[in-house]
Order: sequence, then C-alpha cells, then structure tokens
Amino acid sequence: MKILIAEDDPVSRRLLESLLLKWGYEVIAVSNGREALQCLLAENAPRLALLDWAMPALDGVELCRNIRARETLHYVYSILITAKSRKEDLILGMEAGADDYIVKPYDPDELRVRLRAARRILDLQDTLLQKQEQLKSLATHDPLTGLLNHVAILDILENELDRSSRGDNPVSVIMADIDHFKGVNDTWGHIAGDAVLRGVAAIIIRSMRKYDSPGRYGGEEFLCVIPGCGLKEALGIARRINATVAEKPFDTSEGMISTTISLGVAISGAQWKKVSGEELVHLADQAMYRAKDNGRNRVESAQGELA
Ligand code: GH3
Ligand code: MG
Ligand code: MG
Ligand code: MG
Repeated sequence: MKILIAEDDPVSRRLLESLLLKWGYEVIAVSNGREALQCLLAENAPRLALLDWAMPALDGVELCRNIRARETLHYVYSILITAKSRKEDLILGMEAGADDYIVKPYDPDELRVRLRAARRILDLQDTLLQKQEQLKSLATHDPLTGLLNHVAILDILENELDRSSRGDNPVSVIMADIDHFKGVNDTWGHIAGDAVLRGVAAIIIRSMRKYDSPGRYGGEEFLCVIPGCGLKEALGIARRINATVAEKPFDTSEGMISTTISLGVAISGAQWKKVSGEELVHLADQAMYRAKDNGRNRVESAQGELA
C-alpha cells in the first residue's frame, strides 16, 4: 500500500520512511503541507497519510481540514504525528478531521499496529464501495444479458430526448424482437433459449457505437437508444443486427440454434417530428410489428426509408 509522509524535519522524515519501507509500504515523502495536498489530489494518490502537525506552508491540521472539505476526493485516512501531547491538541487534531493521532517520540510498534488498523478501515471501505457498485449495477442491469434493464433504458431515453431538445440532435430507437422465440424454448428448452438471448444481446452490443445504449426491454425484446445520428445510420445499425443474428447459428449446450430477429426503427428531432419517449417507443414498436407482418427477419422504419 502507498503511504504519504509529510514531515518537514529531514531526520524524522528519513526515520519514518525507513520504517515504512521495512514494513513493506510504498512511500512518498514530502516536506510541507502544500506538497502533501498536491500529492493527495493527483491521480492514484495514496489513501493513507502520516502528517506532521508543525510544517511550513500548510500545517498538518489545516491539511486535514482541507482534505475533509473536498467531497470529491477519495477517502484519505490521515494520522497526525506530533510532539503536542496535550488532550486539547488531540481533540483539535481529530476535530480537524484526522483519523488517528500519534505523539512523538513514538514507539515504532505502536505506529505499526496503528497503520494496520488504518489498512483494515481502508479495506473495509473498499469492500463497501464494491458492494455499492454491485447493487447499483443490479438495480440497473438485466442479470441474464448484462444489458440495461427496462427502467434503466427508458431513463436513458428520457435523458437523451431531454438533451436533444436543447440542441438539434435527433434521437433514434430500435425495438428488436426475436422471431418465433417461443419455438426455440419449446424445441430446445429454456436453458438453450437463455443462451440464445445472451448471444443476441452480445451481437446487439457489438453493433452499437460508443454512445448508443442497448437494453433488454422485456423477455425477448430489446430497446436500443441511439442519440445524435440520422435515420440512415440508425437503420444501418438495425440492419447490421438483423444480418448478424441471421448469419450463423448460436452455439448452445443443446446444439447449434438458428434464429432471426425483427426490428423497428423510429426517430425524433432534427428534421423529424419531435415526440415523447413513450410515443417514440410506440412508433418503433409499430414498425417492429410491421416487420413481423411483412415476413419477419427484417427491419422497418416508422418514418419510411429516408424521410
Ligand atoms: P414472434 O416472432 O411473433 O415474436 O414470436 P415469439 O414466439 O418470439 O413471441 P411470443 O411472445 O409468443 O414468445 C416470446 C417467448 O419468449 C415466450 C417466452 O417464454 C420467451 N421468453 C421470455 N423471456 C425469456 C427468458 O428470459 N428466457 C427464455 N429462455 N425465454 C424467454
Ligand atoms: Mg514539523
Ligand atoms: Mg415479444
Ligand atoms: Mg418474439
């Protein structure tokens, strides 16, 4: 683990540095508070800091206050090291935001175990953040395909329409529905059906550009939000998905399964009529059903070919 030492006295700094290196820490040592702050604001900054109280430029306590005031900064576990040993000093230091406090001259063993406690807290924080990310992802993603779920993709659509209404960029959506998918389940079973769904989702992801968002709208239905490009491009993406799904069978535990997909495209904004998110989805849905009526395995547009 990387550790920052801010200490103006060269002898104390070197002593501290050699102890930390001996215990296996990666050390960054600076001689005043301003340099320490710069270091903590840099990319890949240390998350553990040993700060001397009395230092030029910015002292340890001011530095603690400064760190805590920055809400965007990742959590820095800071330990004040100082010759000030009165209880009032300890209170002042901890109130300024220090997590721990060590009085000079310190016992190296005490420092070692306090650092270990700091690492436990930081590890715990990592675990909590990871769990938080996992929960966030579970709330917005479909577990089978990894795509955005129904609520999340509609949220994105609303945001993109909102953004496009401020500029002059259109937003397209593609509604895609796998053809005769019930037959896949009936013939090969649901596990194989799931594998096909994952395979189709992977093709959809690969067919999108960086700013496009694919989602699982429902069972075997996918909704893609495509901001900032014309109808031609959106149709191009839909046709690519259509052709790739039909191109080769999906390799599943039950064997190779061929399928096709029908897609409807609709656009709002720029030279096309501006419509709400709900209307846009409805238009794409109608176009998709027209694709079904016209024989499936094809793309239809709500606005005609090049309207
Ligand atoms: P169409 O070409 O008209 O769309 O026919 P279809 O058979 O695809 O349409 P239908 O709506 O009759 O059937 C959709 C099927 O999708 C039925 C349902 O069991 C299946 N399905 C929905 N979600 C899942 C899933 O998560 N896994 C699997 N294996 N099947 C699913
Ligand atoms: Mg000092
Ligand atoms: Mg369907
Ligand atoms: Mg279907």
